[in-house]
Amino acid sequence: MDKMTCPHCGHTFNFYEVTHVVEHKVENEIIECPYCHEIADRKPSNGYFVTQKIEGEN
Ligand SMILES: [Zn+2]
Repeated sequence: MDKMTCPHCGHTFNFYEVTHVVEHKVENEIIECPYCHEIADRKPSNGYFVTQKIEGEN
């Protein structure tokens, strides 16, 4: 689990990478902010990214 700060709304959230997705080539996957649902970042992955709000951050 990693943390990232959204460049759009300034909230900090947790994200992690889900890998071992079958038949998925490495490409840039979006990391969507769980607060404002804008794209906070893109990183190369052969899976996808899951984001979670941090308890107590609003
Ligand atoms: Zn945001």
